Amino acid sequence: VERPAAADRLALAERATDVLGASLDALESGAIDLYKLETICDVTSGLTPEQAREVEAKALTKAPEQTAASLCQRLRRLVLRADPEGAAQRAKARKEDRYAALIPDEDDMVKAYVYLCADKALAIKNRIDKLAVLSKVPGDQRTADQRRADVVCDLLLGGTSNVQAHLYVTAPITMLLGLDDQPGELAGYGPITAGLTREIAGDATWYRLLTDPQSGALLDFGTTTYRPPAALRRFVKARDKTCRTPGCMQPAHRCDLDHTIAYPDGPTAHGNCGLECRRHHRMKQHPDWNLTQPTPGTFVLTTPTGRNYTREPEPAYPN
Ligand SMILES: [Zn+2]
Repeated sequence: VERPAAADRLALAERATDVLGASLDALESGAIDLYKLETICDVTSGLTPEQAREVEAKALTKAPEQTAASLCQRLRRLVLRADPEGAAQRAKARKEDRYAALIPDEDDMVKAYVYLCADKALAIKNRIDKLAVLSKVPGDQRTADQRRADVVCDLLLGGTSNVQAHLYVTAPITMLLGLDDQPGELAGYGPITAGLTREIAGDATWYRLLTDPQSGALLDFGTTTYRPPAALRRFVKARDKTCRTPGCMQPAHRCDLDHTIAYPDGPTAHGNCGLECRRHHRMKQHPDWNLTQPTPGTFVLTTPTGRNYTREPEPAYPN
């Protein structure tokens, strides 16, 4: 969240006093700090007083325990749900405000930045990151930051390369079907309007992760070959997020895609695949341990002593 300029602080104080009394109370009692109060004011500023209070009431149930960043994400999500039409209008107006600019800095340097729609920004970041990794040559002394900066220059000033940028957008299936205006979720950015979600979900370079709006559980995929196709691997990584052994938090990039029931007894399908870290992949080979996937994304581990531990799917929409 951008901090309000000094001139805006009075307006912020007025808004808090007139509309967001519950947040002021929470500040007074020490449940939230000033930064969180400002965040609530900022993110709800486009709403009517009634809508703002509705969002505020929901936000305050979790705000005291949340970090400022996760509070901000949750607020954006609540605002999108409370006022999808207004959010679409505001998004359209903001898109008109896009620009690119330079800020002169000291000692021959300049900061260059672009204010633009989140989908394009994430695609750009993704592409820069990938090219920066590929641009590393043996003996390269440049840091990752330096290589990213060099990639930006190469791309804009003529050097060519072509790496596909893959991004994930999570969309409630009812919204893609036009039945409602629930917000989508852009991985790496957070909640986005239904309009932008539909727009990017129609683009083949994006991965659409459809969700059941009630449970938030990710829906389908399926295939009959041994080697999981790239799309299935990406899907399972996005669904599982970490090793699926109950209690293990090893992230997706340190995990293998495991057939829960070994192929060809079990199919190469999302309901029979899951992430397992090296250690738990090995543990699973041992006949005394047993891992099953009773429904896609839910894993049950049976230990040698016969105890069962269940790992529920990670929510597609973090709260
Ligand atoms: Zn593990």
